[in-house]
Formats: sequence, C-alpha cells, structure tokens
Amino acid sequence: MQLPEPVAERLQRKPQVVKALVKRLGADAVLHEDADLIVYESDGVPAYRQRPMAVVLPASTEEVVAAVKVCREHEVPIVPWGAGTGLSGGALSLADGVTISFGRMNRVVEIDYDNRCARVQPGVTNLRITQAVQDAGMYYAPDPSSQIACSIGGNVAENSGGVHCLKYGMTTNNLLGLEMVLPDGEVVRVGGKVYDAAGYDLLGVMTGSEGMLGIITEVTVRLLTKPETARVVLAVFDSIAAAGQAVADVIGAGMVPAGMEIMDHLSIVASEEYARAGYPTDAETILLVELDGPASEVDEQFDRMKGVLQQNGATEIRISHTEAERLKLWSGRKAAFPAMGRLSPDYYCMDGTIPRSALAHVLTKIGEFSHKYGLRVANVFHAGDGNLHPLVLYDGNVPGELEKAEQLGTEILKLCVDVGGVLTGEHGVGVEKRDLMAYQFGEVDLNQQQRVKCSFDPDALLNPGKVFPTLHRCAELGRMHIHRGEEKFPHLPRF
Ligand SMILES: Cc1cc2nc3c(=O)[nH]c(=O)nc-3n(C[C@H](O)[C@H](O)[C@H](O)COP(=O)(O)OP(=O)(O)OC[C@H]3O[C@@H](n4cnc5c(N)ncnc54)[C@H](O)[C@@H]3O)c2cc1C
Repeated sequence: MQLPEPVAERLQRKPQVVKALVKRLGADAVLHEDADLIVYESDGVPAYRQRPMAVVLPASTEEVVAAVKVCREHEVPIVPWGAGTGLSGGALSLADGVTISFGRMNRVVEIDYDNRCARVQPGVTNLRITQAVQDAGMYYAPDPSSQIACSIGGNVAENSGGVHCLKYGMTTNNLLGLEMVLPDGEVVRVGGKVYDAAGYDLLGVMTGSEGMLGIITEVTVRLLTKPETARVVLAVFDSIAAAGQAVADVIGAGMVPAGMEIMDHLSIVASEEYARAGYPTDAETILLVELDGPASEVDEQFDRMKGVLQQNGATEIRISHTEAERLKLWSGRKAAFPAMGRLSPDYYCMDGTIPRSALAHVLTKIGEFSHKYGLRVANVFHAGDGNLHPLVLYDGNVPGELEKAEQLGTEILKLCVDVGGVLTGEHGVGVEKRDLMAYQFGEVDLNQQQRVKCSFDPDALLNPGKVFPTLHRCAELGRMHIHRGEEKFPHLPRF
C-alpha cells in the first residue's frame, strides 16, 4: 500500500525518533521492532489494524513529558494507549506515530478513606481499584464488563459505563481529579479531592475526550460504601421488545435499580456455554436487574417490580439468595462479548443510546435489519440506560462480510439518532463512528467541538484522525468567518 506523502516522510524519521526516545527513557522503555509492535496493531476492534512507528512505556509522569517533548521536536503524532480494550478504534496506532502505553504506570498511589477517594496511575485496571478498597467495605462504582483488563485512564478517556451506571453514574460522575500532560509537555492538575472546583468544568471536558486533548497521568476517583444488600432478579420474556418495554415501565414507575441488562437468545446461549451462569437456554430474552440498599428496601422494591414485570409478560422470575448466586448470575452477562467467539469468528459491536421509550421499536427494527443483511445480531446491553450493544456477527474471511456488517451497523446507529438518541453511549467515536458524526451533528456543532480540540492541541499532535470526520487545520478554523451580529459590547477586548 502506498502511504500518503506526509506519513511516508515522517516514517523516515523513525531512526532519529527512536534514538531520542531511548536516550530520554532508556532502551527497555521503547519498542520499535516489528515483532514487539504487532501487539499494538489493533485495540478491541481487530477489523482495523495499523502498527505504530514505535511504542513508549513510561513509568512516571516525567517520562511521559519526556516522550511528548521528543514527539513534539520531531513532529510525530502521539496515540495514548491504556489496555487496548476500546471498542471504537480510539487507540488505533498511526503508522507515523508513537503510541504511549500505560502498562507500567499501574500503581495505586493513595487511598484516602477520610475523603472517600483514591489516587491512581492511569494504567491501573478498573477492577483493581475496588480490590484495593474492598476490605474496608468500599468500591469504585463504574464497572465496564472489561473491568478485569481495561485501564482507568482509558475509562476516563472514553467516559466508560457499566452495569451499575444506571444508579451510580458513568465515569464522569465518579471522577474527582486528573493530572495530565498537555501536548506542549506542561503538566496540569484539574480538580482534586473536593467535590467541586472553581472555574470551567475542565474535568468534564477531559472526560470522554478520547486521548485528543491531553494525556492522563493520574486519576482521583470517588469511592462508595458497599450497599448493605444486593440481589439480582432474572426475568424471562418471550420477546426482546417485551423485555425492553418492561425496562421502560419499571423506570417509568419511579424505580431506579442498580442495573438493568437485557440479553437475547443468541447471547444467552453463547454465554451459558461459556460461563455456566444458570441462564435458561430456551428463553427468547432475559432481563437481569440488580436491586441494592437496605434489606427491607430491596424486598419492597422486588415486590413492586415483580408486578410490572408480570404485566409485561414475564414468564419466569427468580431472585438470587446469596452473594455467590448474585455473582454467578452476573458472570454470564460479563462474559457475553468474549463468548461470541463460540458463535462467530468475528463480531462488530455497536453502541448507540436511545430514549428508553424507544427500546421496543428499535429492537424490533434491529431484527428486521439482521434479516435484510443476512447477518445474525446478538443483543446484550445496558437496557436501563437505553445503551444498546447489538453485536453484528460476521466472518472476516468471507469477502464482503465486514462491509455488510458495517452497513448494518450504520443503519442501526442512524436509527438511534433518528429516534432522538446518540451515536455512542460509552465506547466513544474513535475511527469506527467518525464518519457518522455528521449524521448527528451539523457543521456549526462540529466546528465548535473542533475549537475545543484546537485550544488544547493546536498542532494536532494528540490522536489525530479520530472522532472528527473532516479535520480542519486549527489555523483554518481561526480564519473562519464568524457572524457576530450587532456589536453589543464594542468596548470589551476580543481574543
Ligand atoms: C469484552 C469487552 C467488554 C466491554 N464492556 C464495556 C462496558 O461494559 N462499558 C464500557 O464503557 N466499555 C466497555 N468496553 C470497552 C472498553 O473496555 C472501554 O472503552 C475502556 O474504557 C477502554 O479502556 P482501555 O484502557 O482498554 O483503553 P484503550 O482501548 O487503550 O484506549 C481507549 C481510548 O482512550 C485513550 N486513552 C487511553 N489511555 C489514556 C490516557 N492515559 N490518557 C489519555 N487518553 C487515553 C486512547 O487514546 C483511546 O482513545 C468493553 C470492551 C470489551 C473488549
């Protein structure tokens, strides 16, 4: 394949870039041989592959700064990499870029029980935070199904969610502070141990910024006390639309369970063979609902909810009686994505979010799309949040199947936008949804978003090529005509 000229030109700088990185960080912190780089060829979307020019493994913020400065001096772009579990190609390496991987920055720096927070390095896995505080009866709430592997830096960059985010919020609601390195090498801190900070909400801007505004080198997260009781309800339905309606009705009735997840027949069968969680394999759909809080409240919620589930046609309702049973029921859901390997060599995971009231309609339409394209679609998703994860099953070795899967996925995401939803709930835009951004946002919106990018990273050093369908140079944006209308405050300075 012929590389575009600027890429080929930057690639020629590889020997100098590697030499400078080795000089600043040491040889064992720099990977540049093909056999080592292959690990960084793709993230959680193996359909898209690209080996980086080099990979850096910093062990401290100072080493991140050193790496950024080398890249800046040699004008090569940087891609931050947490654990590479992302499902939108956000960490996809660049042929002419340096990937900064956080595997070595994996220390829990401080646990502050008085202030109910923990300071951790970005490479710490999500689950490890809870493991570090569980003996004190505490935990970190957002729990992506990938939590044994994904990094907290990646969680912040994607604003990740999980089963318990319905009640406890996404990453953004459980984040207190960040340390980050800006593209010019400056180290800044935003937020801290307190619940609010003066000035603009830069923490909010950084959360979900997909490695495009700054490199996260430390994260302060909020810790919660474990609820007194938690129980999982499993309800069986004859159709996915009925289960979707039940979710909308439970929440419409004023109940907010800790989590509400739907699995359809395909995902039940795949995950049951793999995890043996005790799911009924003849069920068309199951709904898993976690209820938590004081024991008496959980009992009362269960009684109320049972009525709503039955009104929506639940044919069987069970509830966990022990902690082991609860964890077993969740184990099947958490293993559902990897279990797809039992059904198909490849899957393409979508991530649209819709108003809960549209669940039944959209799920029915997804079934129709599946029929139209002749590809199976498994549905396993955060139903309470309206966050869909249709998994389009395909075989990458069959010519044309990936393209068909992408077209089917595009129809699903467009439908999500059409019913008032959004392209992504938690996996980010990355490269995978980049070209659909213009379906959701108008030009003015996109330009405004790009202005934020330019104010942090005017030279497009960080993760270029992601998120924006057409990236204007920042200089071009500055020259754009902005209609100011009547000058109301002529005495105020302009910037
Ligand atoms: C089986 C499976 C189940 C999943 N389940 C869920 C789920 O339930 N909920 C959910 O939200 N997601 C889920 N995901 C998606 C994925 O795990 C999350 O998006 C996760 O947050 C990615 O973390 P990571 O460390 O792997 O990041 P990566 O994939 O390495 O990177 C993701 C993005 O973050 C950026 N980034 C990484 N580290 C930094 C840093 N230190 N500073 C700045 N930018 C950085 C990268 O450039 C990239 O844009 C799942 C993935 C898999 C494979």
